[in-house]
Amino acid sequence: MNLGLTEEHRMVQKMVRDFVQKEVAPVIKEYDRKQEMAPFVLPRMAELGILGICIPVKYGGQGMDYVALGLACEELEAVDTTLRVVMSVHTGLCSMTLLQWGTEEQKQKFLVPLARGEKIGAGAFTEPGVGSDFGNIQATGKRAGDDFILNGEKMWISLATKADYAMVTVRTIPDAKKAYQGLTAFIVDLKSPGVTVGDIHGKLGVRAGSTGWINLQDVRVPASNMIGEEGEGFKVTMSAFDNGRYTVAAGATGLIRAAMEASAAYANERRSFGKPIAEHQLVQAKIARMALDYDAAILLYLKAGWLKNEGMRNTRETSSAKWYATEKSFEAANEAIQIHGAYGFSDEYDVERYMRNARGAVIYEGSNEIQHLIQASYALGNRRDKPLRMEMPAYDPDEWQME
Ligand SMILES: Cc1cc2nc3c(=O)[nH]c(=O)nc-3n(C[C@H](O)[C@H](O)[C@H](O)COP(=O)(O)OP(=O)(O)OC[C@H]3O[C@@H](n4cnc5c(N)ncnc54)[C@H](O)[C@@H]3O)c2cc1C
Repeated sequence: MNLGLTEEHRMVQKMVRDFVQKEVAPVIKEYDRKQEMAPFVLPRMAELGILGICIPVKYGGQGMDYVALGLACEELEAVDTTLRVVMSVHTGLCSMTLLQWGTEEQKQKFLVPLARGEKIGAGAFTEPGVGSDFGNIQATGKRAGDDFILNGEKMWISLATKADYAMVTVRTIPDAKKAYQGLTAFIVDLKSPGVTVGDIHGKLGVRAGSTGWINLQDVRVPASNMIGEEGEGFKVTMSAFDNGRYTVAAGATGLIRAAMEASAAYANERRSFGKPIAEHQLVQAKIARMALDYDAAILLYLKAGWLKNEGMRNTRETSSAKWYATEKSFEAANEAIQIHGAYGFSDEYDVERYMRNARGAVIYEGSNEIQHLIQASYALGNRRDKPLRMEMPAYDPDEWQME
């Protein structure tokens, strides 16, 4: 396993860090308070090539590898989680699923504009009554000639009101032997008749982001928009999570770093009992823990990224990286508040936003209880990965190299 970062990787880190530090950090508090996404975020991420960072050049992307994707997510979330969420859904759940499972025609039609950032994508799986138990979703798709008619409601969908397309999974085979075998994935144009969308307000975190619902009322979708085969929707969606979760893991690693840096800066300035609080060992212990967790979280996501580059299955490793980084980012942000004392309780400092933002990632892209189940099933020998019909393509520098 090669964990060394290349010159290109460092270039990505610097480019994304400059963007978020200069353009997002100064205004993010204002948008978090307003509970609105800053209007420049999506166009700037498109312009900088971040949205298509790991999509091959021939499909409109930047041709970087999956480690570069992780590094970009780490830098984005070090300033605000909402920007990394964009990568999780637009790039992870939507574009990378098209890259893995799409036909050449689907890639040309949908992936190219997504990778260029001309269109925005979402991943719509969760429903009002079903989240973790995904195999039991209720939305339906009925064959009607060359089309399918989709009905149902998708809930807690990031970018629901901003996206042009969504990867949507519905039930098309109601009498399948096992419920999960009756699911089929489609790429749906959200401007189609019968689609309505709305925002969810009053969230604990990711307030400067967009989270909403999508209602499907007799939405006619061409059968040619099916992703994978009919009945493969569960597999398609689980493979989408292997990519979305990876971006969450890398992003949460950035959040640990942000909490650590904010804590160290404050601890060196704030004084109690005649000395900087950084000299109290109980404060040092908290910061030391953040440093250790940051190191471990980086290694976990880079390992998953390396497996992705090699075109190897990484479900278990990505799950570990997501579980660890999200749990530790929440702990780090919580301890950062403690180090800031009463000031940490106010939005004058960033750490309370870090904690609210970190909380969501323990729930979404597979709650951390589900990550426990995944790890246990491998460790107990109850699960062996069978090759998928469509594996994620390995990174090929000849084909993907930046031009
Ligand atoms: C900010 C935000 C953004 C989101 N964005 C998206 C998105 O873009 N697309 C999308 O499709 N969804 C999205 N979600 C939804 C998210 O993926 C779900 O919330 C998540 O999968 C959990 O589902 P649930 O909320 O229905 O909880 P439930 O599945 O009802 O679970 C409730 C609790 O029970 C636990 N639990 C459930 N089953 C088990 C079990 N077998 N063993 C142990 N514990 C269990 C869960 O871990 C959880 O603690 C988002 C959610 C949030 C908060």
